[in-house]
Amino acid sequence: MDKQSRMELRRKAGYRDLPKPQVKVQSPVYSMSFACCNCKTSNMRQFNLAPCDYPRTIECPVCKGVAVNLGRHFKPPKNSDTAQWKKVEYLIEHGFVFQKIRTIKNSYDSVPYPETLAQAKEFVIKYQQYAAEPPYIKSLKQDK
Ligand SMILES: [Zn+2]
Repeated sequence: MDKQSRMELRRKAGYRDLPKPQVKVQSPVYSMSFACCNCKTSNMRQFNLAPCDYPRTIECPVCKGVAVNLGRHFKPPKNSDTAQWKKVEYLIEHGFVFQKIRTIKNSYDSVPYPETLAQAKEFVIKYQQYAAEPPYIKSLKQDK
């Protein structure tokens, strides 16, 4: 829903209720980032699927390892930035695949992701309840 329709809704509702955030967005095509912590590369991929049906992992086109779906908001670090890639890997292993973390119900505000590995260590504990289900984390470890 665009801003204008939201405003329209809000006006109709007489400002009593905020529109609920959309859970499932039916939009034609999304580009998702698939990142491989092994060779420190990230690829944008598109699938003709609803975003929630996108694969969680694909084979890394570079090293044939596991590239993890980090969604639309992931900004890959430079290939040479080992510290940042370590942080990304740490987050993935703990179920944080750059999904939006919203601690306030019906709010668009989300928690910013940590900037350093040290911050990430506190982050995964603090937001443990928002961690994604772990199946691909195992596969990530197996392929190492
Ligand atoms: Zn790779």
